[in-house]
Amino acid sequence: MDHLADPLLLRQHCQSWRAQGLTIALVPTMGFLHAGHLSLLDHARTLADKLVLSIFVNPTQFGPNEDLERYPRDLPRDLSLAEEHGVDLVFAPEPQAMYQPDHATWVTVPELAKGLCGAARPGHFRGVCTVVAKLFGLVRPDWAVFGQKDWQQLAIIRRMVRDLELGVTIVGRPIFREPGGLAMSSRNVYLMPQERAQAPAIRQGLELVQAAVNGGELDAARLGLMFRAYLAEKLPEARLDYVELVHPESLVPVARVGAPTLLAVAVFMGRVRLIDNILLEV
Ligand code: AMP
Repeated sequence: MDHLADPLLLRQHCQSWRAQGLTIALVPTMGFLHAGHLSLLDHARTLADKLVLSIFVNPTQFGPNEDLERYPRDLPRDLSLAEEHGVDLVFAPEPQAMYQPDHATWVTVPELAKGLCGAARPGHFRGVCTVVAKLFGLVRPDWAVFGQKDWQQLAIIRRMVRDLELGVTIVGRPIFREPGGLAMSSRNVYLMPQERAQAPAIRQGLELVQAAVNGGELDAARLGLMFRAYLAEKLPEARLDYVELVHPESLVPVARVGAPTLLAVAVFMGRVRLIDNILLEV
């Protein structure tokens, strides 16, 4: 397995693979790998001849009061996990290598970035799109694999790739969960033991809404309130950032659940912001 920090070496490496007729799959991450990331790598491994993992805590997607400095990092551990999961090349650059001091070009998809996480994190998706576009430019992958946990991110990247003709096939993979149902996240390490024990209630709240839909309740406002009430009861110390029922591609809020509808939520437990979602079945 190769481990590179220099974007130009990454480009050369990938260019030589393409010259040999080899296909490339890319899994972009911020590292501190967990089983959710590994599930993306395992799937990506089946798609292409060569598998590239990027590990980059991208400063431009963090707001001024967010957790850029304290975001968890463990490159040696990530490298050994990557090797175990058949990664051919890990690209882990420093921020200075990715952004020139006079970097001036940004990719934005404002229509899709204004709601959900974009409302609470202005500029976040601009940073995500820009860094993903740069990674696509360096690697020129045939496939790129993302998790459905970050549903809005996935929807935005699909739109960016379509609108800019980037020629990468985007693959979305299911949310990987801890045994209790909590969606895996690098940020879960910040949860206090008691918070961690309670956090599966977020998933249970999503399932409660699905059960109500199964029972014939299709009114989005009432379903949203149902989640809110469940959370207030089970996680009284948590703060709900949003609960939204939206169209899964346009991310436009819906008044009634139809097929398909995404229920997406974000919840603060202490300083940790957790997101989760479910594609409601009608
Ligand atoms: P991150 O390192 O948090 O930026 O995530 C890198 C990629 O892993 C993104 O495509 C995420 O959606 C995906 N991912 C993170 N957590 C999970 C999870 N629990 N299940 C599946 N994919 C995930």
